[in-house]
Amino acid sequence: MSRKEQNTTFKACKKCSYLVESGVLKCPVCGSVNFSIEYEGLIIILDKDNSEVAKKLKKSTNGKYAIKVY
Ligand SMILES: [Zn+2]
Repeated sequence: MSRKEQNTTFKACKKCSYLVESGVLKCPVCGSVNFSIEYEGLIIILDKDNSEVAKKLKKSTNGKYAIKVY
């Protein structure tokens, strides 16, 4: 069993739903500086070119996305 010392919190970009660590100031995808710590769901896109989800959501960058951002 591994100990969980670090609990990394994420926040979601309000513009593109991209999830970044709480310390990040600017969205690496769209450049927005508006984030929300309230979000729902999580999608991880690992291979955007072969991902149906990525196509459906029109995501062009691999990474984690929130399904809904408040
Ligand atoms: Zn963004």
